[in-house]
Amino acid sequence: MRTPLIAGNWKMNTDTASARLLASTIARRADEAGDSELLVCPSSVYLSLVRDTIGSAAVGLGAQNVYHEANGAFTGEISTAMLCDLGVQYVILGHSERRHILGETDADVNRKTLAALGAGLRPIVCVGELLSEREAGKTAEVIHSQFSGALAGVSAEQIVSTVIAYEPVWAIGTGKVATPEQAEEVHRDLRKLLTECYNAGIADKVRILYGGSVKPDNAKQLMALPNVDGALIGGASLKADDFLAIAAASAAVGQV
Ligand code: PEP
Repeated sequence: MRTPLIAGNWKMNTDTASARLLASTIARRADEAGDSELLVCPSSVYLSLVRDTIGSAAVGLGAQNVYHEANGAFTGEISTAMLCDLGVQYVILGHSERRHILGETDADVNRKTLAALGAGLRPIVCVGELLSEREAGKTAEVIHSQFSGALAGVSAEQIVSTVIAYEPVWAIGTGKVATPEQAEEVHRDLRKLLTECYNAGIADKVRILYGGSVKPDNAKQLMALPNVDGALIGGASLKADDFLAIAAASAAVGQV
């Protein structure tokens, strides 16, 4: 049984006061998530603040990016050691905004994934097709190539602490959510790829999140899918009520 992971990607949002309020509300009400694991990923400048605000509550801390080099002359970048030093456990890698706005390639995502795993961080590796690629019937091809590019060289031991997030680019921040059939088809495909690259036992342990306009009113349907093991949430993670309602919907599905 895979414990669902409900991860909030706060992106370049919040200020000190709103980050503290959001984190403290989620921490205070963390039990609403039932058996689902909660994770918040604030901007790196608020990681310490959010860590201190969460305190001992059952809410994990994640970053939104990391650089693959250990240290040195890389102005503006953040290392895995710095994230570990701040108590970060997870790091989102290869988000579509980093791929399509900031030009990250699968090779970049792979270097970051290996660096994160080497440092003991758990990467959340994002994959997902553009609308044009879906319409051209290339979804599976894109997902396969992002999967093998981003996860090259990841050992069997490392893949079980890696999380994969399927985020169709056309569904991120648009209000257009994938249908349960569309989501399950790609998640099943990813599970198959994991089985082929590792084995069925390992594939069964890896969590595959869905991301793309997840809201309280569509969460239950998506989280009930056999190969969906949680959610990566942008917009709705900035509202504690919505984020916790999604977590509660996911936990409720697990109890059925
Ligand atoms: C995301 O940014 O990863 C995301 C899924 O955003 P949203 O939930 O707003 O679509």
